[in-house]
Amino acid sequence: MADRARTAPDDWLAEHGDDLVTLVRELVSRPSENRPPHGDEAACQEFVAGYLRDLGLEPDVFQPDEVDGATGHEGWWPGREYAGRPNVVARLGGTGGGRSLLFTGHVDVVPAHGEGAHAWWDGEVEDGRLYGRGSLDMKGGVACYLHALRCLVECGATLAGDLIVETTVDEEFGGANGTLACRLRGYNADGAVLPEPTGLAVCHATRGGIQYRLHASGGKAGMDFGGGSGPSALTTLAAASAALADAEAGRGAPIYQFLLQSGEELPWGTAEGTPTEGILEFWAEILPGTSRDDLEAELRGVVDRAAGAGTPLEWEQRTRFLSALDGDPEAAIVRAMRAALPGHPVPSTAPFACDAFILAEHSPTPVVVCGPGGDNPHAPDEHVILDDLHILASAYVRLARDWCGEGAAA
Ligand SMILES: [Zn+2]
Repeated sequence: MADRARTAPDDWLAEHGDDLVTLVRELVSRPSENRPPHGDEAACQEFVAGYLRDLGLEPDVFQPDEVDGATGHEGWWPGREYAGRPNVVARLGGTGGGRSLLFTGHVDVVPAHGEGAHAWWDGEVEDGRLYGRGSLDMKGGVACYLHALRCLVECGATLAGDLIVETTVDEEFGGANGTLACRLRGYNADGAVLPEPTGLAVCHATRGGIQYRLHASGGKAGMDFGGGSGPSALTTLAAASAALADAEAGRGAPIYQFLLQSGEELPWGTAEGTPTEGILEFWAEILPGTSRDDLEAELRGVVDRAAGAGTPLEWEQRTRFLSALDGDPEAAIVRAMRAALPGHPVPSTAPFACDAFILAEHSPTPVVVCGPGGDNPHAPDEHVILDDLHILASAYVRLARDWCGEGAAA
């Protein structure tokens, strides 16, 4: 190890920049699509476990539902299948006396759907961006901490506190059980970093949200020769949709409407053409400090006011309620992450929901969200900015050394 220790981490990072890009491509090339209740994370997690073994670590590979107390936990979201979908965690033990640090991220990705200019799984690089499903959300960020870990190991760095890295399954669609299972298995630390794509912003807080599908039914099919057509499933949902769009202004967080479907095209004059069924699906985000009760009251108020006189509506909850992370901007891990980045960015709120709330609500580990920039998450031509990856990997190395402290010489 003696000659390894002679390599300073900055030199190592400069020499191994291409390896970071290759690592992102390796992760992207293993399609780990999450299609609830199933998911295809196995190959990607196997790759990560192999990467960790190559560094001399012994990864803990386990299914979320096999962790003691997980499926009965209040934070467990039922209905998902975990056969062949393991979490992977490894610990680089410190020499003692330092603070422990956890890097956590998910390897599942939303399904590839549609077509862009770039292939889904090839990791093509163009104009300083790497393209592919999951490149931004969030294999780019995961690669940064795996690369930082390798840097520390290969440079022979000795840390006082433990450094824990984990990759989880089933984050998308409000899964979150993978992250919860790691907490319940005991992988907690004095601070955690979750590199969802923030564009290098240091986020002590995130949005949260919930997804609903409204089912409209009833109304009178066909024409009313007695005067007035009356409400239909279609007009009820259209009114709800318009009201939700109006409600977006001023609430500080978007309501994404995904699907509005009612009626079908029939031959001219067909009386049954007035639809008596329809659906509207939307994902409503919240700012930190908003409870589930607040959100439900808001949404039901908006919809009832607009569509209450229409045909009956049924609410179907499609995801769990994801709490917003409402962290302390002056928390030690937030300050340390800022100090590790060039320009020391000010704390901000991430414009998305993620698994960070699981750490806040179900573990003692304070968490900061800070990852790379890019665009088109959950869409064709998703991409991550390569410069951001290099900045982050270097910042994570700096953070680990500062946070965990220098270990005693062996
Ligand atoms: Zn994500």
